[in-house]
Amino acid sequence: MSNISSSQIFAWVERYAKHIAEQKDYLTQLDAAIGDADHGANMHRGLKAVLAKKAELQNADIGVLLKGVAMTLISTVGGASGALYGTFFLQASVMAGSKTELTPSEFGSVLEKGLAGIVLRGKAAVGDKTMIDALQPGIKAYKRSIDSGETLEQALSKAVSAAEEGLQSTVPLVARKGRASYLGERSAGHPDPGATSTVLLFRSAAETFA
Ligand code: ADP
Ligand code: MG
Repeated sequence: MSNISSSQIFAWVERYAKHIAEQKDYLTQLDAAIGDADHGANMHRGLKAVLAKKAELQNADIGVLLKGVAMTLISTVGGASGALYGTFFLQASVMAGSKTELTPSEFGSVLEKGLAGIVLRGKAAVGDKTMIDALQPGIKAYKRSIDSGETLEQALSKAVSAAEEGLQSTVPLVARKGRASYLGERSAGHPDPGATSTVLLFRSAAETFA
């Protein structure tokens, strides 16, 4: 099965930046309904700053690359999402270490470590109406598929579907974490912005690595 190289990892992030740029206004609109109308702008600012470091990052080992993404997001995105996605990439970088290639199974472990970082930092669980609602099932579906011998392409396609289902599951939920939780019952009936940007992260991986 095909491995994932450093330059493919950067291409994944680059693709993510492109999706975020395209969906910036939509993400901000979602955040306007249950937050402070900045999620699209936050993510766009962070990922634009990451793209500016392309020359420096794309040929680095995967640990250095992901750490560069993490530190850039943490330092340029003001909102909770900067710290949370930043922590995701930072923990992912620790797991990747000095590798310059990841097997599909190692990529799963890298994602899992990133998820654990977000959970540790933000203390949210599935059902709290956050990005975890898309991230956790997406990674679980990916890992299960790889473990049962399916291809990287199949695993990523299952991850996208599971993340999309997770996103849909946030619609009726009342937020228990983050800014949206200040709205109480009024947060129900809207998709979570962070879960929406997380679907794009999986979609970008599926498009890049397939
Ligand atoms: P802010 O809430 O600071 O304005 P953003 O609008 O950029 O930051 O991001 C909001 C998103 O962050 C939410 O939609 C949610 O998915 C995510 N989020 C907020 N708090 C948490 C948390 N404790 N754990 C996981 N994700 C969270
Ligand atoms: Mg916001």
